[in-house]
Amino acid sequence: VRERELIQTFTRPFGVARAPRGPGDDCAVLPPSRGELCVTTDAVVEGVHFTRRHFTFEDVGHKALAVNLSDLAAMGARPSWFLCALGLPARTPDGEVQALGRGMSRLARASGIALAGGNVTRAREWSVTLTCAGEVPPGRALLRGGAGAGDLLYVSGTLGDARLGLARLGTRRCPEAQARQRRPSPRLALGLLARPFASACIDLSDGLATDLVRLSEASQLGARLEVERLPLSAELSREMRGTAWRWALGGGEDYELLLAISARRAAGFERACRSAGERVTQIGRLTAERGVRCLDGDDRPVRAPAGFGHFSGI
Ligand SMILES: [Mg+2]
Repeated sequence: VRERELIQTFTRPFGVARAPRGPGDDCAVLPPSRGELCVTTDAVVEGVHFTRRHFTFEDVGHKALAVNLSDLAAMGARPSWFLCALGLPARTPDGEVQALGRGMSRLARASGIALAGGNVTRAREWSVTLTCAGEVPPGRALLRGGAGAGDLLYVSGTLGDARLGLARLGTRRCPEAQARQRRPSPRLALGLLARPFASACIDLSDGLATDLVRLSEASQLGARLEVERLPLSAELSREMRGTAWRWALGGGEDYELLLAISARRAAGFERACRSAGERVTQIGRLTAERGVRCLDGDDRPVRAPAGFGHFSGI
């Protein structure tokens, strides 16, 4: 009985979904896709990804969905449905479950994704595990491995803010960076816009340094990155001065997109981004020579932040 109440409390803000049908049956009933499905899963766990002191449950609901949607954005997929598995401590107040549902459903509505089903289980601490699906036309998903030597590297938005926000949680400083940490914005519109232009794409969950290595290795290439081109917010530049680039490079949880665009498509891509109001910055290029090199304004190699041992070639 308690479980049914909890499920009702959680699902109420999502409203009634028509297609997919669910939740409430033994399975979600979904129409077959005409294109291809991109499916991803990710968990947000209390004490690992959030603490009650610094996150409201609305934040947690938002972030759990946002990090999954960011993976769909990276594939150029249009969000369609998701499943949500909750782990709840004993005697979890209804208010917490309600707030989680509120935060998640608001982003779900804004992103055009429907809750199709899920599960509730007793657990030692809070955990929110989502499985999200999106659609792309056949063969059109943006992969990490499609880039060619000479392709230009672009990132969306600004980098390092979520890391700054993490460092400032519990203070009144850097409210915008704290918002980036609590409620990241998945770049779904940019992923869709980039589909005809990009040769490869990845979302920045673990820091540009790490994710650039992933993209370039998947494409069997190397990269040169110009540190002075990294897009920085006013807050990060002000707080970190000359060392801001370190968090832009190694910070993690940016949930921006890193895109490879062939030189002949770059002008068209930039024009499309400008007219859509999407901020993108060219930060370097992919090279036939393997390894990622990180250069300052005078083309001198700079040392990557500590903790990124596999950031090779420097
Ligand atoms: Mg990802």
